[in-house]
Amino acid sequence: YLEESLERRRLNNEVIELKGNIRVFCRCRPLNENEIANESAVSVVNFESASEELQVICSDSSKKQFKFDHVFKPEDNQEAVFAQTKSIVASVLDGYNVCIFAYGQTGTGKTFTMEGTPEHRGVNYRTLEELFRISEDRQGTMKYELLVSMLEVYNEKIKDLLAGNPSEATKKLEVKQAADGTQEVPGLVETRVYGADGVWEILKSGNRVRSVGSTSANELSSRSHCLVRVTVVGENLINGQRTKSHLWLVDLAGSERVGKTDAEGERLKESQFINKSLSALGDVIAALASKSAHIPY
Ligand code: ADP
Ligand code: MG
Repeated sequence: YLEESLERRRLNNEVIELKGNIRVFCRCRPLNENEIANESAVSVVNFESASEELQVICSDSSKKQFKFDHVFKPEDNQEAVFAQTKSIVASVLDGYNVCIFAYGQTGTGKTFTMEGTPEHRGVNYRTLEELFRISEDRQGTMKYELLVSMLEVYNEKIKDLLAGNPSEATKKLEVKQAADGTQEVPGLVETRVYGADGVWEILKSGNRVRSVGSTSANELSSRSHCLVRVTVVGENLINGQRTKSHLWLVDLAGSERVGKTDAEGERLKESQFINKSLSALGDVIAALASKSAHIPY
């Protein structure tokens, strides 16, 4: 049995690697009410028959063709998006690290995709639900412990969104590289979760903290990165082997560039931090994609 399950893990990981260790999906949201009401606003995307291609019509009517691992159309719902993400969940339970980012301008649907609403739950909740489902399937042979952390990065400062008391909330947090090469945030609150219902409550409470103190919650949330970290500790009940892996679910700050003329003071500082972090992220992904020896984490 151990040999077979090892083989399954190896094959699952190989399939993921063959599909590409880094996958880029594109999601186009439906036009909103304002856009529909405003007749000069028209859809500027054409969907080719292939689900990997997207054509963008530029202002001079020229067309640009883009290719992705998958393109989601406006009518594709949260289930359809998650269907493409699901296969990596088993790999987290097998001890591999996984990271999902939502990238795009403010208002394009990052938070809708990751968090979603109670009626249309997003990738974060669905992923955890799937983690619980698979861990239950394996309960005869594996024991899993799931812990959730939630943090916000605003102007390079880390805020613990699950901090329970004021001393935890004001603690200065930093990203540190651990001896095994992984990135750690010492002191970050980790909350053990036992089921999908508890997860929804935790994600909700984290989001409440995120918007406190800002006059316009959506404004601030679009200027900060929000990260949910799921730590999976696994124990093989047959041979005692232990694994620990992280799944990061990231709702990035808006990628729009603020025009030099209308940005000043706080707004300009925010933009500089966002641009710096997004370009650093670009460097990391480029290094990973080219399998470079040095990854500039
Ligand atoms: P972002 O986080 O990128 O700034 P949001 O996720 O807040 O954008 O989306 C902006 C608005 O569009 C929200 O009101 C959201 O509910 C809506 N929206 C985004 N994507 C979709 C979608 N695929 N289907 C329906 N509504 C969507
Ligand atoms: Mg958002």
